Amino acid sequence: MDFNLSEQERMIQNMARDFAERSVRPVAMEIDRRCEFPFELAKEIGEVGYFGLPYPKEYAGVGAGYTGYALVIEQLSRASMVAGALIGVNGLAEEAIFRYGSEEQKQRFLAPLAKGEHLSSFAFTEPATGSDPRAIETRAKAEGDDYVITGQKQFIALSPASKVAVVFARDETERVSAFIVDTSSPGYELRKACETLGARGLSPCVIYLDDVRTPRANLLGEKGRGFEIMLEAISVGKLAVSAEALGVGQGALELSLKYAQERKAYGRPIADLLTIKWLLAEMATRVEASRWLTYMTALVRDGGASILKESAVAKLFTSQAAVDVTRMAMQVHGAYGYMKDMEIERLYRDAKLTEIYEGVSEIQRVIIADHLLRERGLEG
Ligand SMILES: Cc1cc2nc3c(=O)[nH]c(=O)nc-3n(C[C@H](O)[C@H](O)[C@H](O)COP(=O)(O)OP(=O)(O)OC[C@H]3O[C@@H](n4cnc5c(N)ncnc54)[C@H](O)[C@@H]3O)c2cc1C
Repeated sequence: MDFNLSEQERMIQNMARDFAERSVRPVAMEIDRRCEFPFELAKEIGEVGYFGLPYPKEYAGVGAGYTGYALVIEQLSRASMVAGALIGVNGLAEEAIFRYGSEEQKQRFLAPLAKGEHLSSFAFTEPATGSDPRAIETRAKAEGDDYVITGQKQFIALSPASKVAVVFARDETERVSAFIVDTSSPGYELRKACETLGARGLSPCVIYLDDVRTPRANLLGEKGRGFEIMLEAISVGKLAVSAEALGVGQGALELSLKYAQERKAYGRPIADLLTIKWLLAEMATRVEASRWLTYMTALVRDGGASILKESAVAKLFTSQAAVDVTRMAMQVHGAYGYMKDMEIERLYRDAKLTEIYEGVSEIQRVIIADHLLRERGLEG
């Protein structure tokens, strides 16, 4: 099934597959082992334009739409979820600036991000919350020509490489606003990257903001609209996470098909066993359904519509599928799958993150149910 991809989209898909095999797969295990930010890989991803996929050329983008974006993230994540996630996480600030930034902000901040000259972070989560915007404690106080931001952010990916961050803070009206912050500003302090189970290399860090000054001109969108900006940017982030989950699932399925044909039990390939066939069929079904949901969500966004509901549905399903598929893949591989030098072990650990970051599955269920109720005129 080619999903009616256009000639250009098929070309993007093929090029991304080649890039993944040439530049991502050979370094995937090492990135996982070191658990450090992969500067070299990020530079290569930037050079081929993958940080600017959905954005128009006037902002140094590629103009490949959100379908092109999802196709590339899927292909890169087949080889290493970290590679796909670099694009997805960087895309959060990009999307926020693209949708809500002034023309000046787009030229100044989005264009260098799209070109891969700079990377960005998206700083919402705090020690006390990652799910509840009402619990945000970081403060932004207007002072002269600046806002002065104080607080702490937690698990902020890409931090060691970020030149700018979109920081969410409570302003003097008590509402949450979004601010573009230069990460080299005095008072913006990065603490050591957290060591993670999977997606090792994304380098989520604790960030201390101690009276960090950012010009008033760096307020993103309208004052007090931070929550809306976060939801909108994260809807595209969830499309990216769905493509990551899809890529991880596809990668695990391919490895399992190969292994099942090579590994023998009782003198025959284990692929002949009904139990293994059952696993392969279950895996393939989940991967196929993940692909439909991911591409459909991208298509809706390419049509200019909101994907608040679609992206929640896609993320909920594809992340569960990735966790299920990698667990089944581990079973197909038996003890070998449990070994550190097998790719499947890494995919199994990476998959779990997709159920957690950019909104846990429980929150996706709440979003979906609220949409369903609102569509029927009931309180959501
Ligand atoms: C590797 C990694 C990278 C990350 N990168 C970033 C980043 O770049 N920027 C950023 O801002 N954050 C980032 N995060 C943070 C991540 O988005 C949050 O951790 C996530 O949204 C969950 O928030 P929490 O951990 O505070 O969970 P909590 O909100 O404390 O929730 C804990 C559990 O409680 C339950 N729960 C919570 N709320 C509800 C509800 N309303 N209904 C039902 N059940 C509920 C769920 O079971 C949930 O799993 C990252 C996290 C990781 C692990």
